[in-house]
Amino acid sequence: MTSSTSPFKSNQKNKHAARRLVITIDGPGGAGKTTVSRILAERLGYQYVDTGALYRGVAVAARSAGLNRDDEAGLGALCDNLDLRFINNEKGLRLFSNCSDITGLIRDPEITMLASAISAKPVVRKFLLVLQRYMAKEKGVVFEGRDMGTVVFPAADVKFFLNASQRVRALRRHRELDRKTGQTIGKVERDLQRRDENDSNRPLAPLKPAEGSIHIDSTHLSIMGVVDLMLSHVDKFI
Ligand code: C5P
Repeated sequence: MTSSTSPFKSNQKNKHAARRLVITIDGPGGAGKTTVSRILAERLGYQYVDTGALYRGVAVAARSAGLNRDDEAGLGALCDNLDLRFINNEKGLRLFSNCSDITGLIRDPEITMLASAISAKPVVRKFLLVLQRYMAKEKGVVFEGRDMGTVVFPAADVKFFLNASQRVRALRRHRELDRKTGQTIGKVERDLQRRDENDSNRPLAPLKPAEGSIHIDSTHLSIMGVVDLMLSHVDKFI
């Protein structure tokens, strides 16, 4: 479906832009958060923040510095000198780390697992908590991640929890990675399951639905089906 055939036309965009909500979308990997959040933000005329990319950015910096994933003091010093920012340029929305464009590095499967490991470290979460809240200064933002509605923005205007069956999430992730990495579906599913376990069982900011969140299961829905469902909920808060 294109925006011209959608029931949400540009007058809707203006209406949403005028109210400038903070919207959070949490959920496990492969549920469709990144694609859906980007389109939702675009439809509303909002900013979009992929907070998983920020954890991946810390992981890229840790790997470049040769840090051990359990070196909390090293990670702390790294974060103190790390400037992560999203910049929209001719290539689209890019992630910069201390002035270097690292967008092409963050989806590497090794970085994916390292991001999951370091995201359990208090020093990393504290660093990104401050950065994420700073990014919400200008309201009218869609934040996607694991703890957006529970910890970072518990008072967000609209909170979603987006999920799908493990098999479907693995298939989607495999389709994204396949051409680049040649990983088997079995490996992708095992990694996804390990990340789900890490993210759900860590003591700090575990992945779970926020209080008052709207649950959406995307197993049998298209991307635009999810976006339109979300827009119908967002509309109630305008
Ligand atoms: O969403 P994405 O798969 O890019 O996230 C990478 C990793 O970053 C996740 O596995 C999770 O461990 C961590 N993360 C987090 N909290 C967030 C976003 C991501 O712990 N808000």
